[in-house]
Amino acid sequence: MRSADSSHDVLVIGGGPAGSCAAARLRQHGLSTLIVEKCAFPRFSIGESLLPAGNRVLAEIGALGKVEAAGFIPKFGAEFHRADGSGSKRIAFRDGLVPGLGNAFQVERARFDALLLDHARALGAEVRMKTTVHSVEREGSGHRVALAGPEGEQVITVPWVIDSTGRETCLMTQQKRALEPPVFPKRMAVYTHCHGVARAPGAEGGNILIVRLDGGWSWIIPIDAERTSVGIVTTVAGFRAAGLAPEVFFQRAVAGSVKLRELLGGATPTMGFHVTSDYSYFRRELALGRLVLAGDAAGFFDPIFSSGVYMATWSGKAAADLVAKAHAANRDLTPLERRTYTRTVKRHAGIFQKLIAAFYDDDAFDVFMTEPVPCDISRGLISIVAGHAELTWPLWWRFRAFLLICRLQRHWRIVKRPAAGPAPLGAPATG
Ligand SMILES: Cc1cc2nc3c(=O)[nH]c(=O)nc-3n(C[C@H](O)[C@H](O)[C@H](O)COP(=O)(O)OP(=O)(O)OC[C@H]3O[C@@H](n4cnc5c(N)ncnc54)[C@H](O)[C@@H]3O)c2cc1C
Repeated sequence: MRSADSSHDVLVIGGGPAGSCAAARLRQHGLSTLIVEKCAFPRFSIGESLLPAGNRVLAEIGALGKVEAAGFIPKFGAEFHRADGSGSKRIAFRDGLVPGLGNAFQVERARFDALLLDHARALGAEVRMKTTVHSVEREGSGHRVALAGPEGEQVITVPWVIDSTGRETCLMTQQKRALEPPVFPKRMAVYTHCHGVARAPGAEGGNILIVRLDGGWSWIIPIDAERTSVGIVTTVAGFRAAGLAPEVFFQRAVAGSVKLRELLGGATPTMGFHVTSDYSYFRRELALGRLVLAGDAAGFFDPIFSSGVYMATWSGKAAADLVAKAHAANRDLTPLERRTYTRTVKRHAGIFQKLIAAFYDDDAFDVFMTEPVPCDISRGLISIVAGHAELTWPLWWRFRAFLLICRLQRHWRIVKRPAAGPAPLGAPATG
């Protein structure tokens, strides 16, 4: 096994959106950067619906023009439906309270992730594909990292590490072992890509469609002229109790919902069904002396509000800024910097988690689906759903007011609920 001092200031592990954004930002700060990615790109990834707030991050790292030129489907809004077809709500991002958050993109992740990685490379980051990091150990004023790639096994020492290895990594550093207590029940997703899913004409054809089911939900995301990403999220317990193969479970859930039958009647899968299980967690500490976690490596939660890629790019950029500042001062991260990064990422995530909790709560969902909630509360919510998770006062009080109305709804029926309830997931069709 070869052993060498890396000539790089920072090793970024993982070439997904978090890693590429971190690397691009590090290059903007003038730090020499190595990205190692275990896969060959392009590679399949789920998570195709982006948020308008993500455009700001892409602009800051100089990648927005490339994304706009890549021909991805523009996303101007989102539609929420009840499973039995008894109610729906359409959100247009341009109606939000915060200006400049009018659109995002629906992307085929294989292309999008490759584009971002190429962008980091174009800014001067060295990229090693098909190279897996097996261990990271603190040593002196840096890290000793064991990796294996096409050129064999190697150990390098490098001052800084950004761990952006996503959800499904085997790489476990000490800080990744400690998790926050779970906020949500264990959920999982069953998904595929389909042909033949009908779309609304014009700009609304680019919307994400979300159908709320009993204990779960379903997404419909157009990813190019032909293909649509479709998936069902359910509880792990519900999936196990149904005892069905993923494809059968999926078809059963579609058959059990009036709305899904209407939306997916003509759908034909173009690939096998994937399953991602048990996917909600948050690490306790997101930064140590010279190691920072970004993206899903830091935490991941239910993707109802399409927050994952935004959180990945935003935290990747924030991690790079943090590293660049301490590197310039030739020191470790201070305890205050570590705490502030951890809190800031979790505060951001906490806004989405509150929205997710409201989505799963029957009473809060009734309020969410009402249009319009007075005093521009609906417009404030649209901006938050667009990803504006740094709550300025006008958004903060409206979000608080929304959560308060949701609580009141439990005791006094302020908002009426449509008569029929959603069909249970996995149950045979009835409606
Ligand atoms: C079912 C489902 C639906 C989702 N829907 C959406 C959505 O609609 N919109 C949205 O924004 N988000 C969505 N997400 C979330 C989104 O996919 C993730 O949040 C996002 O991909 C995180 O980016 P990342 O860069 O942190 O991690 P990843 O994209 O997972 O990238 C991590 C990279 O690290 C590499 N890697 C791992 N271990 C190693 C190692 N040891 N050495 C070298 N390389 C390594 C991997 O190969 C991978 O390329 C969804 C997630 C799920 C599960």
